[in-house]
Amino acid sequence: MRTRLDWFNRLRWAAGFGVLAAVLVVGIGFGTPIEVRPLSLTAGVLLLMNLAYVLRSRTMKPTDIKAELLLMKVQMVGDLMVLTILLNLSGGIENPLIFTYVIHVIIASLLFKGRGIFMIACLACALFTAMVAGEYFGWVPHHHLPMMSEATHEGSFIVLYLGSFWLVILFTAYVGARIMRHNRAIKDELVARQKDLIRVDQAKNDFFRYVTHEIKSPVNTAQSAVETAQVLGGNDLPPKVDDMLSRAVRRLRQATDIVKDLADLTRGGDLKKENLDREDLNAVIGRAVELQKGLADSRDIDLRVMLPEPPVIMTTNRSMAEAIASNLIGNALRYCREGGRVSVRLVDTGKLVRLVVEDDGIGIPPEDQERIFEEFYRTAAAQEVSDLGTGLGLAIVRKFVTDLGGRIDVQSELDQGATFTVVLPRRSRAKLASADEEGES
Ligand code: ADP
Repeated sequence: MRTRLDWFNRLRWAAGFGVLAAVLVVGIGFGTPIEVRPLSLTAGVLLLMNLAYVLRSRTMKPTDIKAELLLMKVQMVGDLMVLTILLNLSGGIENPLIFTYVIHVIIASLLFKGRGIFMIACLACALFTAMVAGEYFGWVPHHHLPMMSEATHEGSFIVLYLGSFWLVILFTAYVGARIMRHNRAIKDELVARQKDLIRVDQAKNDFFRYVTHEIKSPVNTAQSAVETAQVLGGNDLPPKVDDMLSRAVRRLRQATDIVKDLADLTRGGDLKKENLDREDLNAVIGRAVELQKGLADSRDIDLRVMLPEPPVIMTTNRSMAEAIASNLIGNALRYCREGGRVSVRLVDTGKLVRLVVEDDGIGIPPEDQERIFEEFYRTAAAQEVSDLGTGLGLAIVRKFVTDLGGRIDVQSELDQGATFTVVLPRRSRAKLASADEEGES
């Protein structure tokens, strides 16, 4: 509401100064015989009224929406009265600018609902009719415009003119009200759908949280039991049993990874100011690379890391940043071919930091490039390479990047490698849990 009021005030500044300038140019500049002084005075009153509205808006916090709406209506009534006085001073019915009433009705349809719009339209008609009748019957002075014909003083012309004026104004109000009703219905629907989506997402998160909580300890217990059985059995285990236990351990490790990833995924929404700190991103990337070095060596991958100097120090959440980097680097190493190449680049542009992780591996077909950020989605090529992925890493990465106020995108083609780019604002715009404020901590 305040944004609209401010916009309305800006329009009024433009109108007030516009009238003042026009009066000075036409009246003094061109020497046209118009009522320069009363017209300038009325425009000055409009500007003073606007100054009062602006000061009120700056000094008083909006508390009651009804009061703001009423104020907007009062302002519009004031504007219509000033417009009528200006028109009366500049030819009345002879002035082609009488159609500026239409602009007021259009603005009213942007600001108010049905009845409010018709109220403004009827007021415009009433004020204009009163002015024309007042001038016709001699109750108020009429300032004839020398360039206009005397025919405008004829009763029949005036009646015809007034009728057309009412028709145009009321029709504008009707169309404006209809269009705005339609727009509001669409907006309400969009808001309702968005709320539904948020509810569904919340339900999904609650479900993930529940599953994580319930399966965490059984999976851990089973994993350590199987590992212990394998160790205790040692060389005495028949090869078939040993093989079965090894497969069980591998699968249970995968289940543990899923539990850990699900826990990460449902962790969002609780980012608080105290979880943000000044961090050295070069060091964060360095640690993530260190963690994955073994994988790079075992697959004979040429892993290149390019970090800026001086190091990037910025406000962020360290564990989220580490998770983002190590997931992307881990993926690049896993989906790269043996003996391939992976590069990790951190770029500081001053306003943004960009982490680019590039590999020359199996790539991602265009139709999968949005879906890989969904939970559990894995491309067919990735499933061929390894059946151990959880399909949760990128969902976590995207969630953390968004929570930190950044964005991620991917460029790739099948068999042509993939480039993941994470962009984070240099000045933190992290989405904090509702109790905290947004922005730099
Ligand atoms: P995971 O790697 O455990 O399967 P992710 O969520 O990290 O899960 O990745 C989802 C999917 O995105 C992967 O299964 C794979 O299909 C695809 N993907 C991710 N990174 C790459 C990459 N660097 N190259 C090719 N495909 C990738």
